[in-house]
Amino acid sequence: MTLRGRRAVVTGGGRGIGRVAALELARAGADVAVAARTRAEVAAVADEARALGVRAIALTADLGRAEDVKALFAEARGFLGGVDILVNGAGIAPTAPFARTTDEQWHSVLAVNLSGVFFATREVLPEMSERGWGRVVNVASIAGKTGMPYIAAYAASKHGVLGLTKVAALEMALRGVTVNAVCPGYVETAMTDTGIANVVAKTGQKAADVRRRLEEASPQKRMVTSEEVAALVLFLCGDQARGITGQALNVDGGTVV
Ligand code: NAP
Repeated sequence: MTLRGRRAVVTGGGRGIGRVAALELARAGADVAVAARTRAEVAAVADEARALGVRAIALTADLGRAEDVKALFAEARGFLGGVDILVNGAGIAPTAPFARTTDEQWHSVLAVNLSGVFFATREVLPEMSERGWGRVVNVASIAGKTGMPYIAAYAASKHGVLGLTKVAALEMALRGVTVNAVCPGYVETAMTDTGIANVVAKTGQKAADVRRRLEEASPQKRMVTSEEVAALVLFLCGDQARGITGQALNVDGGTVV
């Protein structure tokens, strides 16, 4: 597949799934704008992308803030000339029992994981529609399809992302623009490591035992990798995926069937 000449914005591109997705897009020839809050991480990913022979820029923004997202896309367009591909990868996943979920946790998770996807997608749909080509890929979660204890805000945000995905896909169906979600199960990333560390801190269980339980949640008895998720993101960005829209595709070893 070639994405030469395409211009991509990847939010949450500083590490984990977003980082690998940004680099896969660059390897396929797309110019990339890599966005997150931690400058050093996005700068390093932009350097890696440039080493693959494309143009790349590192941008800092808090995706939960509408004004940051506006500024982010103004900068991205200034550098790239336009946006053909948007990967909404930024996300956070604090955990708490439902009744002990604080207002702050609720609002911050909804702001980044759901409003951030809305703000960013709203920025790009008009130009994609006008150009007659575009790809939006939302990194949701199987928590967007099913419930699990202790993730009320996270599950609500990811269910919301799947709703946004369907509506945007239908509005764009005749415009050459597809909008899809990928739904990973547990992925080997810093987010999962932090989740494990939180369980260890709260319960005193051994990290290895917690990790094993997460692995055993999947029929494949393993976590998936960022590379596996990024491969699906890349596929959805290609011309050959033009018939796939409004979908939420699991990468979870069969956890949710
Ligand atoms: P990660 O390694 O923690 O990376 C998350 C990325 O999002 C980082 O670049 C982070 O950078 C950025 N981010 C977080 N809050 C942000 C904010 N307010 N504004 C801008 N950027 C922000 O996590 P990951 O596992 O790769 O997760 C990526 C996506 O996959 C998330 O949407 C997550 O919900 C989803 N997912 C993950 C798993 C899993 O098991 N790990 C499973 C299913 C779905 P900064 O902190 O520097 O801003």
